[in-house]
Amino acid sequence: MSDAEGLQTRVVPVDSMSPDPAVIAEAAALLQAGRLVAFPTETVYGLGANALDPAAVRRIFVAKDRDPDDPLIVHIARASDVEMVAADVPALARELAERFWPGGLTLVLPRGERIAPEVSAGRRTVAVRMPSHPVARALIEAAGVPIAAPSANRFMRTSATTAAHVLDDLAGRIDMVLDAGPATAGIESTVVELEGDRVTILRPGAVTREMLEEALGRPVDVRGREAAAGPASPGMLERHYAPRARLVYLPGVMAPDVAAQARESAAAGVRVGLLLADEDAPGIEEEGLAVERLGPANDLERVAARLFAALRALDAAGVEVIYARGFARTGAGLAIDDRLRRASAAGREGGTGRAESG
Ligand code: AMP
Ligand code: MG
Repeated sequence: MSDAEGLQTRVVPVDSMSPDPAVIAEAAALLQAGRLVAFPTETVYGLGANALDPAAVRRIFVAKDRDPDDPLIVHIARASDVEMVAADVPALARELAERFWPGGLTLVLPRGERIAPEVSAGRRTVAVRMPSHPVARALIEAAGVPIAAPSANRFMRTSATTAAHVLDDLAGRIDMVLDAGPATAGIESTVVELEGDRVTILRPGAVTREMLEEALGRPVDVRGREAAAGPASPGMLERHYAPRARLVYLPGVMAPDVAAQARESAAAGVRVGLLLADEDAPGIEEEGLAVERLGPANDLERVAARLFAALRALDAAGVEVIYARGFARTGAGLAIDDRLRRASAAGREGGTGRAESG
C-alpha cells in the first residue's frame, strides 16, 4: 500500500454556477495548509495543490503515482496573475491569453522564481492557464495562490470528468473533492509552446488548432508524435489515458468493420466493448455487445466530452477489449485522435489486456 492512502476523502457538492462561499473557503483553507483538493474545471477535474509549496506539490505526485518527470499545469484566477507564475510574459503570450482566457489554453512560459521547481519537474519553463469554471475560479481566488493541478486521476489512466471518477482513482489519497457535476469540455486543455512568433501545439485539446490559427491569422504547428516521445516535450508520454481494458483503436476503418472485428473476438469468448458514434449503434447494440455511444460523428465536441466517461463506463462493465472507431481529425477531432492513440498504445504494452496504472 502506498503512503498516500489512509486519508478520509470528503466529497462536497457545490453549485457549478454559484458555489457556496463557505464551502469554497473550507477548500481554500485546505489548499493553504498544503493539502490536496480535487475540483471541477471546464476541461476535466483537476487535483489541486498550492503551486508555491514544494511539499504540497510533491503530495500530488504521490497521490497520483505520477512520474516525477511529468510537469504540472498551474492554474490562476486572474490573467494578471500570470506575472506571479512566469518570469517573462512575451507579447504573443499576452495576445493568446487575452483571446482564450479564461478557457482551455495552456501556455508554456519561463518559470517564475516563486513557483515550486517540482511543478515543472525541474525544468526552466512552467505551464499556466486561467480556467473559466466558476468553481475553479472561486477556489483559486479564495486560496490566494496559484494552484498546480493535473487531471484528478491515477497516472496514465483515463482523465476524470466527474467527481465519481475522481473517487474511483483517488479515494483515501486526497482530502476533498468538490462535486459540481460533469466537466463540460471533457477533454484537457491545449498546451502550446511559443518561440518568437511561432506557436506549436504540444498537446491538442479543448482549444482547437483552427481556433488558434484564426486568432493569429497564421498557421500553427502540431508537435509530431516522434518528437513528443522525446525528452524535449516532458510528459507527452506515448502511454497515457488508458482504460483497464485493452483498447483497439481503428481509425480509418468503417463502423460496420469495427463491429465485425468486435464480433469475431466476442465469438472467441472475449468480453468486448465498442466506442461508436450514435448513428453506428443501432443493430450492434441489439446483438448484446457493450456499446458506448459517443454522440453524432459530426459533433466532435460532444464526442470529445463523452470520450473519457465512455472508456470508464466500459471498464465498469467489465469488458476486456474495447474496439474504437476513428473520427475526423479536424477541430476537437485532433484531441480525440491523440487520446485514443495514446490509450491504445498503453493497452498494447499492457500485454495481459490490463494496462499498468503507472
Ligand atoms: P495534466 O496531466 O493534464 O496536468 O497535463 C500536464 C501536461 O502539460 C504535461 O503532461 C505536459 O504535457 C504539459 N506540460 C506541463 N508543463 C509543461 C512544461 N513546462 N513544458 C511542456 N509541457 C508541459
Ligand atoms: Mg493528466
